[in-house]
Amino acid sequence: MAKGDFSRKAADWMRGRNGSDELGTMCVIVSLILVIINIFLRTLFLSLVALALMAYACWRMSSKNLEARESENATFVGMFGPLARWLRNPAAAVGESRTYKHLKCPECGQRVRVPRKKGKIRVTCPSCHEKFEART
Ligand SMILES: [Zn+2]
Repeated sequence: MAKGDFSRKAADWMRGRNGSDELGTMCVIVSLILVIINIFLRTLFLSLVALALMAYACWRMSSKNLEARESENATFVGMFGPLARWLRNPAAAVGESRTYKHLKCPECGQRVRVPRKKGKIRVTCPSCHEKFEART
């Protein structure tokens, strides 16, 4: 087997498949955390959950039903949007969370980003123009 054969084969195999996405990455991370916790707890239940999550992540990566996987991932990103931001770029997310605070509009639920350490401020929702006060 010539050099580079494996990576070419791997690339061939990946073509047309889902690959890794936020939901898959999340499953792998949660699975690894469970494995670490389970070093101390040693329960069969946790190792089964970790195994199932890992298997699900692998299955997602190798899935050829891109449309279904994409819509699942979109649902996941929608539900855990801020979390997905942390997964994609943890360093940038740390900097961002130090500079800004994320609030939810009490009227429409829209997420609003405001600068931190400004004391009590008046926020106008960009979506419904509702005004509310917030401590930053
Ligand atoms: Zn609003």
